[in-house]
Amino acid sequence: MDCRKELVVKPGRKLDLSGIDPSYTGEHASAEAAQGEIQRNVSRMDALQALLYADGRQSLLVVLQALDAAGKDGVIRHLFTGMNPQGTSVFGFKQPSAEEAAHDFLWRAHQRAPARGQVVVFNRSHYEDVLVVRVHGLVPESVWSKRYELICDFEKMLTDNGTRILKFFLHISPEEQLARFRQRLEDPARNWKISESDYSERELWPAYVEAYEEALSRTSTREAPWYVVPANHKWFRNLAISQIIADTMDAMGLKLPPARVDLAEIERKYHAAAAELRKARERNGKNGRNHNG
Ligand code: AMP
Ligand code: MG
Repeated sequence: MDCRKELVVKPGRKLDLSGIDPSYTGEHASAEAAQGEIQRNVSRMDALQALLYADGRQSLLVVLQALDAAGKDGVIRHLFTGMNPQGTSVFGFKQPSAEEAAHDFLWRAHQRAPARGQVVVFNRSHYEDVLVVRVHGLVPESVWSKRYELICDFEKMLTDNGTRILKFFLHISPEEQLARFRQRLEDPARNWKISESDYSERELWPAYVEAYEEALSRTSTREAPWYVVPANHKWFRNLAISQIIADTMDAMGLKLPPARVDLAEIERKYHAAAAELRKARERNGKNGRNHNG
């Protein structure tokens, strides 16, 4: 199954989330059957990240958006732990600080955008400014309704500058969300994740669906596509996202850069240094000043 083809929000097409089953697992029968494939994808991601870093010409931005408890944190923990920390970062977008709120809505996203050679994951993102902000009426419609185009322009600018952008919406059902809320209650290790707003936000589910449908429909482009990832099954979510990231990085034309030096010349220097060291050791050996003596 090619998840890039199957899960993409086709640019220019109106998305209807009710037509996508959050429990979908493609032809994959079970978590056990998928484990090997997930591991292979994660290994490919790790190797390609090292190559992206060495290549140093392009970057990757992964955007994760979802309703509460859909698994954004789980995706980061399962799929990105193998990447070299020197070249990977994750940013969580919370309610804007006073300084952030005093700027345009893209300011904080632009600051966090990846430098060449880097992988950056946005846990929530600039899309909150057409999602939570729209649903709660934090700014008037005349303001948020202009943001879709501004987002497309911003992402096009990043893309033109060498950033590959992948955007994932983790799609769960209200039943699955409630089941996960229950786990958070029952498992002391998860109690800290519970927030008052979990239930009030849940009541706004239809408004969020509407906001997501418009956001994804209007901002999925060839260069910065959205994928709707059925996420009731954590293993399928991990499989789909890891496959899409690995396949995309594979197609970025990443290459090890050529050596910046004359290798033959450096090899001569190496042999000279080795010969020099050998001679010094021999002299010291005759004088009885070696480490074992
Ligand atoms: P969490 O992801 O659970 O740590 O929660 C972060 C919270 O910050 C969520 O409730 C988001 O909706 C909220 N948030 C993120 N960005 C914005 C924004 N631009 N305006 C208002 N709230 C936001
Ligand atoms: Mg939360």
